[in-house]
Amino acid sequence: MTSLHKKVILLLIISASFCMSAFAQKNYLDIDRLIRVGLKSTGKHKKFQLEPSNGYLEIFDNTNKKAVYTGKASYAVITYVRKGTYKITIDGKKNFLNLSGEMLFSPIGKPPNFMKVKVAKRKSRSYRGSIAIVSESSFLFAINQIDMEDYLKSVVPSEIFNRAPAPAMEAQAIAARTYAVRNITRHRKNSSYDLCDTVHCQAYTGIVKEIKAATSAVKNTEGKVLTFADVPANTVYHSNCGGILICSTAAWGGKEIPYLVSHRDGIKGQELFCNVGTKIKKKKISDLKLQKPVSKLIVRSYPKTTKKRYHKNFGHRVGMCQDGAIGMGAIGYSSRQILGFYYPGTRLVTLNYARPKKAPVPEQKPGKRVIKPEPIILAMKPDKLKDENLSEIKLEFPLNPTQLNAIESSQKSDKKSVIRTLKEVSESRESKKAGFRKVFWNPSQPDISKISTN
Ligand SMILES: [Zn+2]
Ligand SMILES: [Zn+2]
Repeated sequence: MTSLHKKVILLLIISASFCMSAFAQKNYLDIDRLIRVGLKSTGKHKKFQLEPSNGYLEIFDNTNKKAVYTGKASYAVITYVRKGTYKITIDGKKNFLNLSGEMLFSPIGKPPNFMKVKVAKRKSRSYRGSIAIVSESSFLFAINQIDMEDYLKSVVPSEIFNRAPAPAMEAQAIAARTYAVRNITRHRKNSSYDLCDTVHCQAYTGIVKEIKAATSAVKNTEGKVLTFADVPANTVYHSNCGGILICSTAAWGGKEIPYLVSHRDGIKGQELFCNVGTKIKKKKISDLKLQKPVSKLIVRSYPKTTKKRYHKNFGHRVGMCQDGAIGMGAIGYSSRQILGFYYPGTRLVTLNYARPKKAPVPEQKPGKRVIKPEPIILAMKPDKLKDENLSEIKLEFPLNPTQLNAIESSQKSDKKSVIRTLKEVSESRESKKAGFRKVFWNPSQPDISKISTN
């Protein structure tokens, strides 16, 4: 219990800092790292069951901006009642009736933390981040509110060979991130999420897909995207090009795209990169005699009408050849060289959320600030707390149940950090006009990710 509550405290520190209004993509560099993925493959249902991985749950009313419940929960069942109305039952005992709009369910407790989503007749899936349940006319629908980088940890292994060398894995991570950023508004017109979890956007099945190598690749390329003419590039990829990549016009018609040109998948006089890649998939790198990387990779484009190939291709042959990327990675090329080869002329940039933070704003003198209370429904009565604990917390708004829990269960040595934490939470509440938090915690905060599944 002690270590769990230490984590709860840690989670408090990092809550409260996300603003979703940035979804309108004015500048892709400013994109919010918190994204919303519509769980289309799970589908619409009359009933959802959510299970927080550590037995603690926060429910936040995203429509009315208030906490509904924080505390112990093995599972929560959300049931459609009638048009636009649903109810939540926690552990088959506590009921929250006549609910509408969107509720955000966040697992809290010791990381790694995730939420299992169960619906009738389907295999359950677990997701990092939070799950939002939205009522849609006569059904309920789930949205995974998740950190972009955590989302990619699941997407990347779905898209590439699991034992791909690190540079190829990293190139894939950058391509997938770029694709997500480029398409971040594609569902916004008719839905309240950014991307869906099907191949329409990128296949995403949650935590089950994650592997160590892909997680490292995502971490090593944090926030990096490929751009051309100051917009995210169209980082299309395919399985195997057949030895010669073709230009986008030859594949799909339309305007020529300067970085999606036709060229040989390799260097003249050397083995094709995708041939090397196919061998790597069958044998260990150490068992193969590989060519050496050249210092100057030059892409010589073929006529745009070329559809010539050396062997059978798999996929549309435009952009990055994944087997080729695997071959290049094994030979010793870096992810940047791989991307430069398959998307010549593009630039690698880092999204603002992954850039070093500006110096923190200096603390204001105590006593000067007025903390406006947030309406909070207490799920636990304050009289359960020992007075001596509460007397040390000098805050001018009602504490939420998680905070109360944290104080109650924390050991004496932790009191200072609890107080500091609560102050930080109160300050960040004040700074956000539109609701003090959209998500209770952010799984990719540095403090947390160190102890995550990696
Ligand atoms: Zn989609
Ligand atoms: Zn190829």
